[in-house]
Amino acid sequence: MNLLEPILQHQHELQKIRRTIHAHPELSYEEVMTADLVAQKLTEWGIPVIRGLGITGVVGVIKNGSSERSVGLRADMDALPIQESNSFPHHSTHKGKMHACGHDGHTAMLLGAAQYLAKHRNFDGTVYVIFQPAEEGGAGAKRMIDDGLFNQCPMEAVFGLHNWPGTAAGSMGVKVGPMMASSNEFEVIIKGKGAHAAQPHMGCDPIMVAIQIAQSWQTIISRNKNPLEPGVLSITQIHSGSGTNIIPDSASLIGTVRTFTIESLDLIEKRMREIAEHTTAAFGASMEFRFKRNYPPLINHAPETQFAIGVMQDVLGMEHVQTHVEPTMGSEDFAFMLLKKPGCYVFLGNGDGEHRMSGHGLGPCNLHNPSYDFNDDLLPIGATYWVRLAERFLAAPPLR
Ligand SMILES: [Zn+2]
Ligand SMILES: [Zn+2]
Repeated sequence: MNLLEPILQHQHELQKIRRTIHAHPELSYEEVMTADLVAQKLTEWGIPVIRGLGITGVVGVIKNGSSERSVGLRADMDALPIQESNSFPHHSTHKGKMHACGHDGHTAMLLGAAQYLAKHRNFDGTVYVIFQPAEEGGAGAKRMIDDGLFNQCPMEAVFGLHNWPGTAAGSMGVKVGPMMASSNEFEVIIKGKGAHAAQPHMGCDPIMVAIQIAQSWQTIISRNKNPLEPGVLSITQIHSGSGTNIIPDSASLIGTVRTFTIESLDLIEKRMREIAEHTTAAFGASMEFRFKRNYPPLINHAPETQFAIGVMQDVLGMEHVQTHVEPTMGSEDFAFMLLKKPGCYVFLGNGDGEHRMSGHGLGPCNLHNPSYDFNDDLLPIGATYWVRLAERFLAAPPLR
């Protein structure tokens, strides 16, 4: 590995910051202490700070030389509503809240890079270090954009990363194009007519309609969607009824849809609505259809991804960079940034959990698991990647 010596020297300091954040997790848009800590560190290192974008968001502006060139690096700061099972010294002190997705590590790595960039200044242009709130369902990235992130901080491209448990520490992975899915939720309420269960002919049974819709919807995946395009339609809740002798008035179907393209999503939503409408009509019932698009698919841009691959290979060696990583049906709000700016999002191997200290919760070291912990060995790797990426991006001819 080709890590920056000054960052390795600061590894202990970065670990301290990471563990302080881990011990004080804050949920979406409540990252007050975390944002204060980030702003205070940036200020301490002489970096001007913009606050208030996305409520608790923080941006550090690191300028050097006279070039107009610019690049953005992004980390997320929020934690999850999970009760931590780990009891090692830096375990969560906030009941029911936990850094189970490693955003504590993402924040610390980007701080490490900011500290290095502000001190060594081996670049000509502007590096924006973006610390966003509310990645876990709150669309903090979108909120920062809506609040003027890219107007106040005009950048040519933006880059993000996520730690990835189950892949070796010291490895990274990426792919051009769709890497994470869109996440969407739906709720259909079928309105029938209640009756005595012994007199079904007096009512209109919404449960039968719900069953027909649920079955027919699966044909959208198997018969309507291009089989070469991934897509998931999962009904995760069916609610209806209150007794063994009552045909209920209504029934509801709730669930999620995941796709890698907007085209597939448009098709699935349209077909779901048509099937629900026509099926309820065929049975003499009526319905309400709600479909909410949460995060769009995360689609990596080709030139920026090729560029990031070069940097990763430089930091980790060719053999430790997977350039065609398997995409995941999970979602990520960095996708909103990639709709507005060219850029690339990469996975950074977090290992299998051997890095955890004694007192961990014995469960798997997976994202969103109460026994998870970010791997501190990644701190200098991620920070070096960010520094090299920014320095090289500003030195190279523009990618577009
Ligand atoms: Zn997460
Ligand atoms: Zn995450």
